[in-house]
Amino acid sequence: MDYVTHYKCTLCQKSYEAPVDFYTCPSCGETGILDVLYDLDKLKLDLSRDTFAARGDFSMWRYAPLLPVKETHMKDTLRVGWTPLYASKRLKDTMGLKRFHIKDEGMNPTGSLKDRASAVAVLKALEVGNTTIACSSTGNAASSLAGNAARLGVKTVIFVPSRAPKGKLSQLIAFGARVVRVEGDYKAAYNLSKAAIGHFGWYNRNAAINAHMVEGKKTVAFEIVEQLDFHPPDWVVVSVGDGCTIAGVHKGFKELEALGLTKKTPRLLGVQSVGCAPFFEAAKEGRGLRETNGDTIADSIAVGIPRNPVKALRAVKETSGEWVTVTDEAILEAVRTLGKEEGVFAEPAAAASLAGLEKALREGIIGKDEHVVLVSTGNGLKDTLSMKASLGRIKNFQGGLEELIEYFDKDHHKGGTK
Ligand SMILES: *Cc1c(COP(=O)(O)O)cnc(C)c1O
Ligand SMILES: [Zn+2]
Repeated sequence: MDYVTHYKCTLCQKSYEAPVDFYTCPSCGETGILDVLYDLDKLKLDLSRDTFAARGDFSMWRYAPLLPVKETHMKDTLRVGWTPLYASKRLKDTMGLKRFHIKDEGMNPTGSLKDRASAVAVLKALEVGNTTIACSSTGNAASSLAGNAARLGVKTVIFVPSRAPKGKLSQLIAFGARVVRVEGDYKAAYNLSKAAIGHFGWYNRNAAINAHMVEGKKTVAFEIVEQLDFHPPDWVVVSVGDGCTIAGVHKGFKELEALGLTKKTPRLLGVQSVGCAPFFEAAKEGRGLRETNGDTIADSIAVGIPRNPVKALRAVKETSGEWVTVTDEAILEAVRTLGKEEGVFAEPAAAASLAGLEKALREGIIGKDEHVVLVSTGNGLKDTLSMKASLGRIKNFQGGLEELIEYFDKDHHKGGTK
């Protein structure tokens, strides 16, 4: 917090001295999304590779000096972050990769990477004395906000599109959120939330608008670096909806490099679904983003009008990264592969990153000798219906051993185990 100096508009590049009492650039309006800037020279003097571990804090707050929040309530939050970075055991051989790690963000308290942003939102709201926070979300921003706010006694109003999966809605109810389900898609939910936030004056956790959300998300990059002993990988693979996650990943790696704590920033592979790929299409055709349908099973990345176009496009471009798209079939297959080969149960949007990695390897975008980290952004338990087709293949037994022996003799066991 002490190190934040300015907020800089990603459109007109104008800088505003911290603190500011607006979310987006007053000159550019809602599309003038801000970047949070820190006093890197001062940080360089005060930080070393050992600083984070020395704090003895196994949560995202071990990076407190690099975050735009006061430390006042950090000890009271849920435990967000410091999720496992698994060295792949089998999948790396299947894919022919020499070094491959999986960052399991499904292990966060409400089961997704969004907890990192929501924890910051709750502390920020308390700082400015606002006791109600609102957001619109395809699901995880909402459930993470509801959970993290509940922990600190802050109220939440959540706008969700009508298609939000039951697992995520159940979380909202359990965490005591006031839920506004809006007929239509994410856009409809977003627009109503915007009007309501303007009217009621709630704290706004809409990710792109609120620059602090990307700050929370960047801590996943800090952790990857620390967990790899300050040797960043060659590539990091992230699925993309609004674009705030990949923007945060980018900012995190870049800041560590700027501070001299690492020597490089990885290339970023942005993965979208074929049914909803505004970033992929814009990058391919070298133009700005156009509204698309949000037509994919991966609800968390079904964002037809991404709210963070500048930061996400920049993340891929500046790192010489790439965009790929994957089909819903490939996504569902990837859910099973990640579960079966590594024991990580990912929701469809999270497993999309694996489908994207497989495609990037096939197309020669990523080389087999490169070190890859896959960010599995959310827990599969949130959306168990995505496995519906496979559930039908489970056979019913009457309880007698004979029948079971016969079944295994016939080598029918493929669907059940491996
Ligand atoms: C939100 C989300 C994403 C995408 O993040 P954006 O910031 O919207 O690009 C990917 N996977 C999961 C599980 C998410 O919840
Ligand atoms: Zn501006």
